[in-house]
Amino acid sequence: ARKKLLKLKKTPAITRDGTPITLLANIELPEDCPAALEQGAAGVGLFRSEFLFMGRAGHAHLTPSEDEQFEQYRKAVVAMKGRPVVIRTLDIGADKPLDQSEHTALNPALGLRAIRYCLAEPQLFLTQLRAILRASAFGKVRMLIPMLAHAFEIDQSLAMVAQAKAQLREAGQKFDDGIDVGAMIEIPAAALALPMFVRRMDFLSIGTNDLIQYTLAIDRVDYEVAHLYNPLHPAVLQLIAMTITAGKKAGIDVAVCGEMAGDVKLTRLLLGMGLREFSMHPAQLLAVKQEILGCDLTTITPQTRKILRSMEPDAIALAVEQLQVI
Ligand code: PEP
Ligand code: MG
Repeated sequence: ARKKLLKLKKTPAITRDGTPITLLANIELPEDCPAALEQGAAGVGLFRSEFLFMGRAGHAHLTPSEDEQFEQYRKAVVAMKGRPVVIRTLDIGADKPLDQSEHTALNPALGLRAIRYCLAEPQLFLTQLRAILRASAFGKVRMLIPMLAHAFEIDQSLAMVAQAKAQLREAGQKFDDGIDVGAMIEIPAAALALPMFVRRMDFLSIGTNDLIQYTLAIDRVDYEVAHLYNPLHPAVLQLIAMTITAGKKAGIDVAVCGEMAGDVKLTRLLLGMGLREFSMHPAQLLAVKQEILGCDLTTITPQTRKILRSMEPDAIALAVEQLQVI
């Protein structure tokens, strides 16, 4: 079956009714790029940059320098041979601690994580922003900010991008001045305040892993509540659908880069919601493509609208299963 899938590597991801879909890879390090290309990725939809900062055993305070980061980002951009690369700024904290010995908050997932951490450490953030910007001189780079909830966080992030650009200009360094800056939608407040985001940002990427965690109040790494972690909860589906619709209305790209994007049982549902951009672990890309090739949006879309009107989990689960056999 794996061999049969590999034959789809060069097949364009287009639904039966002719709608093109963009399939992107999630990576942790530039070394993951060849595998992404091997599975036919159209680009990188999520480069989790925190992996450059983690696992520096005993030297967690020694975060990678601007040059060190630049080299890694550039490596990924070059490896993707002209395809776009979305680099997410540092998403440290909670399940991805910078240093195990650091002060542990009682509720780390609700604590100083991701953009909150970066805005509290402006020098560290500026260093990363400069490194990403410098890599943008070597190919199509987009910048993605995790865990945004407040308007002032968006504004401060954009101001710091502008500051990093000014510093590079001063130093005579090249970068893409028109670089896109996007927001992760992974806190329910963000999905409920989309006008705040689409006005300021160039694109959106839905982090369903955290969106589910925060919507259902289920710790994503606590096995005792893992059975309650349900992507098909009607509240979760509403938030995802609202985000896709708001992005489309505003004319900006919306992707899903959480685990849901790589689950073939959910491909048709996401397509039916209007999603046209999926980012996932490279190993899932071809199976999702196969699903897309067999899918007719003219039947899936009205069926999905019905699903979104339901508030009955059993009915939703059944209807999602039935999408598979249309
Ligand atoms: C997510 O939250 O869905 C996501 C893609 O980011 P991470 O899993 O790295 O938090
Ligand atoms: Mg996340």
